[in-house]
Amino acid sequence: MARDPLEGVQDEYDVIVIGSGLGALTAANTLAKSGHSVLLCEFHNLFGGLATWFKRKGGHIFDISLHGFPVGMIKSCRRYWTKEIADSIIQLKNIRFENPMFSLQTTFTREDFTRQLVEKFGIAKENVVAFFDAARSMNFYDDQETTAGELFEKYFPGRPDVVRLLMEPIVYANGSTLEDPAVSYGIVFSNFMSKGVYSFRGGTDHLIDLMAEEMRKNGVDARTRAEVEKIHIENGRVTGITTRGKFIRAKSVVSNANLRATIFKMAGKENFPADFIDEAEAVRLNSSSCQVYMALKPGDTVDESTGDLLFTSTAKEFRTDLLLDPNISSRTYSFYHPHLRPGSDRCLIVSSTNAKYSDWDGMDRQEYKQRKKVMIEETLDAVEEYVPNIRERVAHVEASTPKTFEKFTKHLMGASFGTKFEGLAVSRKLPEVVEGLYHAGSVGIIMSGWLGAMNYGVIVANDVDSYLMNAKPESVLSSTSVEGNTSEDS
Ligand SMILES: Cc1cc2nc3c(=O)[nH]c(=O)nc-3n(C[C@H](O)[C@H](O)[C@H](O)COP(=O)(O)OP(=O)(O)OC[C@H]3O[C@@H](n4cnc5c(N)ncnc54)[C@H](O)[C@@H]3O)c2cc1C
Repeated sequence: MARDPLEGVQDEYDVIVIGSGLGALTAANTLAKSGHSVLLCEFHNLFGGLATWFKRKGGHIFDISLHGFPVGMIKSCRRYWTKEIADSIIQLKNIRFENPMFSLQTTFTREDFTRQLVEKFGIAKENVVAFFDAARSMNFYDDQETTAGELFEKYFPGRPDVVRLLMEPIVYANGSTLEDPAVSYGIVFSNFMSKGVYSFRGGTDHLIDLMAEEMRKNGVDARTRAEVEKIHIENGRVTGITTRGKFIRAKSVVSNANLRATIFKMAGKENFPADFIDEAEAVRLNSSSCQVYMALKPGDTVDESTGDLLFTSTAKEFRTDLLLDPNISSRTYSFYHPHLRPGSDRCLIVSSTNAKYSDWDGMDRQEYKQRKKVMIEETLDAVEEYVPNIRERVAHVEASTPKTFEKFTKHLMGASFGTKFEGLAVSRKLPEVVEGLYHAGSVGIIMSGWLGAMNYGVIVANDVDSYLMNAKPESVLSSTSVEGNTSEDS
């Protein structure tokens, strides 16, 4: 019989962290390093949340969300994790765009974007510089009325091709749209399109193994297969959680689960003031994703000039609604060349598409399986253009949908990037309405993605540390600090 996931668990901790996404792992590790007793409860049998992977017969390992992250990850990993983790981060040099408007290859740096916008798109250099400077100077407290679409119109009027180049990768990076506030676009854009796109040598499994080892070394009591059913609140103050039917007391609780699930499912709306619930009810979930995973036969490789990341679209124009359309016209391919996993002879290709939960919900098993099959076949047809004879070369292929993401992470409607922008204010307000209750999970576009989630974990860990310091004067003073989640840090 499998071991009891709660074997040896204490009756009480300073902090209980719900979930093990990058935000949770980083919060738990930071708090344990500060001397607090920490229990981490993850419902799945793996740590990592959306930073995950799966293995298939024949030795294939597929990464789910390791398409790329900004350079700031190196600094955050060194500061909040270990040098070994930071030193395993490598740059992806070959990012490609193929669509009816343009075809280009870039290193994804500000210099290269500036050069191509001037030379290839004929934009005046001063406009490009002004746009980059404006995006870079944005912060959360700025005007939230201007939309990303209006920002583009100001700097590049009548240039849908430029909008496509500058917007498409960010839509994939966090599901934002032209209608979202420009500030959410600007912050993520300047992080991503400044010094290139980075990946993790050794794969997601290696990263999460290193993180799990480090947090356990620092004293985190980390458990898998431990779904939290309830967050207990008494007289406006958190008292603990129930997992697998067991109540465990805690001075504070940090939820890394979906924000709406935290409030409405685990805590219960009766524990919050009515105006807070109104605000929380208005928080929209972000969109979800579909992916098709393809492993080439051992030893078969794709020429690296094909790209590390390839943004493709057959849509004549760029519209964010088209990116979510079930008739897929846009696919982003990640090519995981063998050098990303030293010692491996495998090349894996992952095709990702933004998707709506409603397009995959409510069908019977047979229809669902059939729809997935069609998606796989259409994707193989589409990949053929870049990887000739893909059908003969592929050793394993399968697909995931919004339902898959929902099943494995419990994100409502399979949301890939938590919530829309308004989720951030609600997430930050949680401890003001329930003492000791915090949220450190993907919200508001800015605090999502690998780097955003990790940095949010540190920000929240610092809040919890201050709270516990007041509640528990004997604890060791925290030495951690985080700079604002702007520029290359976010
Ligand atoms: C297809 C896809 C591709 C992506 N690609 C990239 C990319 O290339 N670059 C990038 O930076 N980001 C990418 N992302 C986004 C990125 O992976 C996430 O934003 C980030 O990993 C989220 O971290 P998090 O800390 O918010 O927690 P999450 O990863 O959302 O994890 C939440 C955790 O909470 C657990 N949980 C939920 N409820 C409970 C409960 N009741 N009890 C116990 N545990 C619970 C879940 O099981 C999960 O482990 C991608 C996402 C998707 C879906």
